Amino acid sequence: MSQNDPAPRVSASGVTAGGKVWLVGAGPGDPDLLTLRAARLIMRAEVIVHDALVDPRILALVSPSARLVSAAKRRSRHTMPQHAINALLVAEARAGREVVRLKGGDPFIFGRGGEEVEACREAGVAVEVVPGITAAMGAAAAAQLPLTHRDAASVVSFVAGQCKGLTEQNWAGLAGAGRTLVIYMGVANADAIARKLIADGLAPDTPLAVVENAARPEMRVLRAHLAALSQVIASKGVQGPAIIVIGAITARGENDLRMLALEMAQ
Ligand code: SAH
Repeated sequence: MSQNDPAPRVSASGVTAGGKVWLVGAGPGDPDLLTLRAARLIMRAEVIVHDALVDPRILALVSPSARLVSAAKRRSRHTMPQHAINALLVAEARAGREVVRLKGGDPFIFGRGGEEVEACREAGVAVEVVPGITAAMGAAAAAQLPLTHRDAASVVSFVAGQCKGLTEQNWAGLAGAGRTLVIYMGVANADAIARKLIADGLAPDTPLAVVENAARPEMRVLRAHLAALSQVIASKGVQGPAIIVIGAITARGENDLRMLALEMAQ
């Protein structure tokens, strides 16, 4: 049995020795983008605690006998505070169960996976992390936007567009010539983000792409210049999870990308 098998470990006396928590990345949507390890754990876990962003097609893989708990953590609509999620993971593992904490994308990219790992470690509960395809990588592949390119970008940065004190964040140097900036959770603050980047010296006509619902059937790729970011988001009614990719790589093969965007939007 490999160390990843979620079968309960039973001591010689027949008493369950203790469960384990797996922090599993569910990727951006398409179940085909799960790692084999993630798929195996999802199918076999006894308890699954998942976020709102986990695709329903992935939740369909869960064993019918498993307990499925939605932590439904979405901006300003927290149904379960982080400390309660941590406590649930610890309690279920202490009860001897094998727990999968299932997160959209990768657990360690804006997923609060670090806090959950720390909570488990502090409680003396075994914990393991299974990486997932983060939204930036899923979107890059699906929309054919190479985040680095020998001729156009040798630096790529991931930033959170929704965070405390956005205006105090120092993004200088993350966008501009030869660089790609990927903004997660930026749709609601798009106007402030564009203003901030322009105030920091980025040209208003810097090209960008908004990739909504990457790796899902309803994916859309919207293209704009920085100055028109919030306008395109409003006019196209971006509702689903989306990342904003800023930089010259989004302008390469522009016609092909337009075609792709149109196909995807249909
Ligand atoms: N851990 C996740 C990120 C969680 S933060 C990951 O690694 O992808 C939530 C943000 O991720 C959303 O606001 C959005 O910006 C982005 N996101 C998640 N899934 C997405 C998807 N399918 N398409 C585009 N963006 C997505």
